[in-house]
Amino acid sequence: MDHPIDHYWQLRLTALKKALESNNFEVFIANSAVDAGHLVLEKILPKAGARRISWGGSMTFIATGLYDALKNMPNLEILDTFNKALSPEDALELRRQSLLVDLFITGANAVTETGELVNLDMTGNRVAAITFGPRHVVVLVGRNKLVPDLETAMVRIKEYAAPANAMRLDKKTPCVKTSVCEECKSPDRICNTWSITQKSFPKGRVKVVLINESLGL
Ligand code: SF4
Repeated sequence: MDHPIDHYWQLRLTALKKALESNNFEVFIANSAVDAGHLVLEKILPKAGARRISWGGSMTFIATGLYDALKNMPNLEILDTFNKALSPEDALELRRQSLLVDLFITGANAVTETGELVNLDMTGNRVAAITFGPRHVVVLVGRNKLVPDLETAMVRIKEYAAPANAMRLDKKTPCVKTSVCEECKSPDRICNTWSITQKSFPKGRVKVVLINESLGL
């Protein structure tokens, strides 16, 4: 067999799609980050009829090419929360406004085999948008985010994703020095709000794009 690992993951992602669909998520499978970008631009976006779009922190979102494609797209109102030229006050206000867009795009820290999305946020704009506000939400998930259950999801996030993200963001937290979470009280702490999205409400509001590639942290 050619590409046995991709075949293995295709089967795992197909089972995961079924589990997520039983939890009322709309689910797509893409073979690569680039394919996921095309899927969002050519299928999800037109169907949603979205005019006002924003996003929350996600390395996977960048990997799909969607950030570069969308921010330069005419006829869309883009609330670019990644714009580093904004003052802290303006950046915060834009994140508040991003909770009322037609379509919000982000990633997930973990997804369980039983079809739940698990996230841990610093600011909270990402978990807020997934939970309520935007009319449509697209969650981009690389195959490396799949875990058996909620407990494993939380261990994955606290033992790996959070310290690695703190390193990526150059935070001044103990985990950056040791790689181990010390439940810090640092002002730079990135672990502030957990969310477990067990089901999409209303049905289909949250669209999950499962990507047969390892992406993000
Ligand atoms: S709680 Fe603090 S030490 Fe633990 S992972 Fe989060 S930022 Fe790092």
